[in-house]
Amino acid sequence: MCKVIIVGGGAAGMLAGIAAAQQGAKVIIFEKMPNIGRKLLITGKGRCNITNDCTTQELIKQLPGNGRFLYGAFSQFSNIDMVELLESHGLKTKVERGGRVFPVSDRAMDVVDKLREIFNLAGGKILTKKTVQEILVLDGKAIGVRCTDKSSELADAVVLATGGASYPGTGSTGDGYHMAEALGHTIVPLKPSLVPLECEMDYISTLQGLSLRNVTASIVYKNEVLGHEFGEMLFTHFGVSGPIILSLSKVVAQAKKDGKYPLDLFIDLKPALSLEKLDARVQRDFALYSRKKLANGLKDLLPSSLIPVIIDAACLQQDQDINQITKEQRKKFVETIKNFSVPIVGTRPLSEAIVTAGGVSTKEINPKTLESKLVKALFLAGEVIDVDGFTGGYNLQAAFSSGFAAGTAAATISKNEV
Ligand SMILES: Cc1cc2nc3c(=O)[nH]c(=O)nc-3n(C[C@H](O)[C@H](O)[C@H](O)COP(=O)(O)OP(=O)(O)OC[C@H]3O[C@@H](n4cnc5c(N)ncnc54)[C@H](O)[C@@H]3O)c2cc1C
Repeated sequence: MCKVIIVGGGAAGMLAGIAAAQQGAKVIIFEKMPNIGRKLLITGKGRCNITNDCTTQELIKQLPGNGRFLYGAFSQFSNIDMVELLESHGLKTKVERGGRVFPVSDRAMDVVDKLREIFNLAGGKILTKKTVQEILVLDGKAIGVRCTDKSSELADAVVLATGGASYPGTGSTGDGYHMAEALGHTIVPLKPSLVPLECEMDYISTLQGLSLRNVTASIVYKNEVLGHEFGEMLFTHFGVSGPIILSLSKVVAQAKKDGKYPLDLFIDLKPALSLEKLDARVQRDFALYSRKKLANGLKDLLPSSLIPVIIDAACLQQDQDINQITKEQRKKFVETIKNFSVPIVGTRPLSEAIVTAGGVSTKEINPKTLESKLVKALFLAGEVIDVDGFTGGYNLQAAFSSGFAAGTAAATISKNEV
């Protein structure tokens, strides 16, 4: 029986293992952590946004970092196939806003358990606390792996699915890049993608924990709007995060690379209202609370922690009598709500990114089989490859599809060669 070794028991490694084992190969997953799927457990805030209910074209579009490279993998194993795999083994899923697919239980743990169960059912074996250090190669062909404990294991094919270099506590410490580079592969420089943004304004700490829904955020360099998103964001102790900020972080990283700095984040706190409509709304509130101080008359309009910050940004005073506010002052206040500016000083480091951009160059990998073009019987899958996308389940689907395609091809190639 042919033998396939999978390095890494994450999203890509599990699917590679399932595919190869279902093809009848003897499969062993080598996982450095005490358990598989550590990163999967923290996905989707512990709920695991498994995939997205969209077309293949849309999947590719939402993976701006080389998504097209995965066309062949998506054709072999799509988002529909992923949902079908889980559902057919009893894990119910649901579709939420923006096509995001989650387990009905809202527990990422259930996804990890189900993948382990499917893999075990197919006859696969998992070795935990086994850190692979080197891919063994003979005559240009992968023949096995050597671990840090000096043990080695031979195989007919090896799948490298070690993930990226973010959230290293989950086991994704970038080992795969070194192993691939040692075999001659080009590593496209690593960059944080989907990462929170830093700003140094004093008021940031007072806003920590504030979550804003249905706002518009734009990244602006001088007068040029570089990116624009609508949705949810969050203030943290260092700056801003949340879905729309993570999406905009790609634009910030690129701007930094292009020397476009400093940048501003403009937040429209009331995008559903035009300036005129918001002004009318503010006038109504000011009439209602005309006897109050400004800071006490805005609770219907703004979250309480934001009130002093917006008053300050509009050059007004918190203890100003509302009935003393001039038309010009009100106009400036309304404009501030529509265009609240937060200066951005940079992105958080790679270790805090949701995804690593860069990685093993797609030019050196066969897009159909995910086999290395440099080393026979070596396959690559998941985030270790230079592919990355937006939030919404696209990155996991990229890992699942590339894993499945790599596992299928690994089992086939070794069978042919035995
Ligand atoms: C906080 C957070 C939330 C996220 N939420 C989502 C989401 O909801 N939806 C989505 O689509 N994407 C999400 N992502 C991105 C997604 O988790 C990754 O893109 C995906 O897990 C990549 O899969 P992978 O198998 O390539 O790598 P990983 O899932 O990182 O798996 C790699 C595995 O390889 C193991 N490994 C590494 N080196 C070695 C070695 N030398 N020997 C043996 N084993 C090794 C690691 O321990 C790890 O288990 C999120 C990421 C983060 C950080």
